[in-house]
Amino acid sequence: MAVLPVLVWPNPILTTPCTAVAAITEDLRALAADMLATMYAAPGRGLAAPQVGATLRMFVMDVTWKEGKPDPMVVVNPEILWRSEETAVGAEGCLSIPGVTTDIRRAKEIRLRWSDLAGQVQDAHLTGFAAICAQHEYDHLDGVLTLHRLSPEARAAAEAEYFA
Ligand code: ZN
Repeated sequence: MAVLPVLVWPNPILTTPCTAVAAITEDLRALAADMLATMYAAPGRGLAAPQVGATLRMFVMDVTWKEGKPDPMVVVNPEILWRSEETAVGAEGCLSIPGVTTDIRRAKEIRLRWSDLAGQVQDAHLTGFAAICAQHEYDHLDGVLTLHRLSPEARAAAEAEYFA
């Protein structure tokens, strides 16, 4: 496993829509292992493939490891099947926009379907931080960053802080 460099805004790879993973290969498993190592080293709770330069629809997350309960998830070709109408605003950071935290409104709960590294289809109802994290990472696969979800005024303020 290797800790990979994390690309930072405004690297154009971060705004490139990713392509579906065609097959679970040894290379893909190695990339997933490197992404988990990179996420833990950062330290973060989620990391999407484009953040390490791979424009593939895959992300990793582990929302409980910082509390001493590691639960790594590798999410390949995710689909958000349902979003709750109820939303909430929360402060979000991003490893690709270091030092900047922004308030983002997201669905409080989602239903996510994905393939794991064994090629098995998984399906889960996510709540709490897991739901927020999965939506954040899913956005990365569409080339969408937190900055893109802000009002023009809030985005200008966040970019001013970032580029200062
Ligand atoms: Zn991010």
